[in-house]
Amino acid sequence: MNPRGVSALGWRLAETIRRDGPISVADFMTAALTDPTDGYYTTRDPLGAGGDFVTSPEISQVFGEIVGVWCAELWRRMGEPAHFVLAELGPGRGTLMTDLLRALAVLPACAAAAELHLVELSPTLRAAQAAALARRHPGRIVVWHDRAETLPPGPLLLIANEFLDALPIRQWHHTGGRWTERCIGLDAAGAFAFVAGPTAAPPPGAPPAPADGAIFETNEVASTLAEALGGRLTATGGAALLIDYGHAKSGFGDTLQAVKGHGYAPVLADPGTADLTAHVDFAAVARAAGQAGARSHGPVTQHRFLIANGIEQRLARLEAGCDIATGARLRQGVRRLIDPQEMGRLFKVMALTDASLTDLPGF
Ligand code: SAH
Repeated sequence: MNPRGVSALGWRLAETIRRDGPISVADFMTAALTDPTDGYYTTRDPLGAGGDFVTSPEISQVFGEIVGVWCAELWRRMGEPAHFVLAELGPGRGTLMTDLLRALAVLPACAAAAELHLVELSPTLRAAQAAALARRHPGRIVVWHDRAETLPPGPLLLIANEFLDALPIRQWHHTGGRWTERCIGLDAAGAFAFVAGPTAAPPPGAPPAPADGAIFETNEVASTLAEALGGRLTATGGAALLIDYGHAKSGFGDTLQAVKGHGYAPVLADPGTADLTAHVDFAAVARAAGQAGARSHGPVTQHRFLIANGIEQRLARLEAGCDIATGARLRQGVRRLIDPQEMGRLFKVMALTDASLTDLPGF
């Protein structure tokens, strides 16, 4: 922080805007989250003690175990390839992958066939992932990537929990019968403020007849990723499991949000110091993957996916083997994941696969 209480990244972005004019929400979000020196994820472990938010794998080990059982079943349906790429996008502290690998060990041939690839930009989180995997799965070879595009070829099982929500959105504003891009400029006091950008064509995927004042969001990075994944799954086989908060149908609304210290924070204040996310438009993801020939499944609610994949049976087995206090803690964690008032309804699960895979467990 500099003396005026604005983050270092905030100063730099304000300078850019003063010099070149307003920037898109996507440019603001990209800088805030992944700027190489001052980005939110670059500089910290947001899930650690005293962190800003908590995710499903950090709430309960059962989450990763259920995803692992799902992957093992998919591997079987893929014809039990002797080698496959097991990839995760945005693995956080590596908790989901360590729990998943433990569940995968139930099918030793599947565990042995898995070649582990993690897509992670943050050096801080890469170190946390390396430490978690070395502790729980010593000897397991891990390869890190900056981008999904560099994952090696071959059959693929890919997972991503709360990754797509961190990809940069653009926002479009419908006023007076026309669309403009919603950009970020500076107000008279020099603070970041939303401003109208240039007039634009109707954003792709927007439903017809927007009300005056409607906001629509597009995510070109997510769509490009989904199309590339779809093409790759079609070519070499496999599945991608995408879990995130979002909506099943494209709709209007401003979903950009900042989270800090387990609460909401102003979205434009001090970029780089708070997590900045947007809801995932699963219909847009499915459309992009479908253009490349992939099949999409769901989205279904996290509640439905976890129940259908046996989370209650898994909990009962764990409870039977532990003391009452530990059992109560496990039960409370699982409740949080599936309760519709907590993470059970807002969080959705979608799978993308090559066209040969149908009737997936949980969908
Ligand atoms: N999946 C984890 C962490 C979610 S937080 C969990 O459920 O706990 C988002 C993760 O995505 C972090 O690991 C973050 O560093 C990573 N990330 C965010 N944007 C990224 C990008 N553009 N490329 C690669 N990784 C990214």
